[in-house]
Amino acid sequence: MRRKIVAGNWKMNKNVIEAQQLMFQLLEYQKSNAVNCEVWIAPPSLYLMMAKDLYENDEIGVFAQDVSEHEKGAYTGEISADMLESIDAEGSLIGHSERRQYHGETDSHCNRKIKIVLEKGMIPIYCNGETLEQRKSGKHLEVVKNQTETALFTLSAEEIKKVVIAYEPVWAIGTGETATPEQAQEIHAHIRSLIAAKYGQEVADEISILYGGSVKPDNAKEIFSQPDIDGGLIGGAALNIDDFAKIIEGFN
Ligand code: 13P
Repeated sequence: MRRKIVAGNWKMNKNVIEAQQLMFQLLEYQKSNAVNCEVWIAPPSLYLMMAKDLYENDEIGVFAQDVSEHEKGAYTGEISADMLESIDAEGSLIGHSERRQYHGETDSHCNRKIKIVLEKGMIPIYCNGETLEQRKSGKHLEVVKNQTETALFTLSAEEIKKVVIAYEPVWAIGTGETATPEQAQEIHAHIRSLIAAKYGQEVADEISILYGGSVKPDNAKEIFSQPDIDGGLIGGAALNIDDFAKIIEGFN
């Protein structure tokens, strides 16, 4: 059985008091409800240690939003995989579309970041997805194929099994426009079939592929019910406990 995951990407939101409050609320929720999936968060890196201290029994997985492709040294502002490992973080998002758009990240960068995170025994959450233009011109399958191959296909079978993939169509992020469950399922099945063709069906069947892009309490259940969708990467609706809890309940 593939792992079922609801992950919250907080992006650049919340001051320390607000962050701590939401972390507490999540822990309380997790303790007092029957939760049928893994719950992960990716808060701003400033708050990662606070999260790790609070979740002393690993009740909630703690991820960075980005990691350096370099091991260490003169890279002002960056955080290394080694640093993340040293606080017991579970892993890092890699290649989020906002990193691609505003910081020039490419799938080659992603490939190096994924490797460095895997070397430290952590989980890379590799994000990909097409832009609106690419979808409109019917290139979405090809775009996602190229992204997946460049970022992942230098990995061994053992390595790729440890990667979580998040398909996030750029046109659905923060826009209120969600891919229909059928559109999302099509791409998820496509990604899984690419992996199956390269590494075998057994490997492909082990990899969790999350959907991200305007997942909300009222659409989560239907999205999560698709056969190749193993959960969600949630932005805006992960910033308050009520919405995030309802999304988690999409697995009930
Ligand atoms: P929204 O849920 O706000 O559309 O953001 C999705 C996302 O980018 C998660 O990484």
